[in-house]
Amino acid sequence: MAKTPYVDQDVCISCNLCADTVPEVFRMNDDNLAEVYDPSGAPEDKIQEAIDVCPVACIHWEE
Ligand code: SF4
Repeated sequence: MAKTPYVDQDVCISCNLCADTVPEVFRMNDDNLAEVYDPSGAPEDKIQEAIDVCPVACIHWEE
């Protein structure tokens, strides 16, 4: 089964880095918190880049 990324919005500090890195998957919502709007919008290694760039490590994989 494909892995799906999700954002722990309680921890997100609204830095925008994930949405800048992989805009096909992540965007900022109306509260300026990151959300996954298209989990299959980019390959897993690209999504992993966003996970790695998050300064508070609040993006996770869900299997
Ligand atoms: S990189 Fe992390 S802290 Fe920054 S907006 Fe994305 S989820 Fe939030």
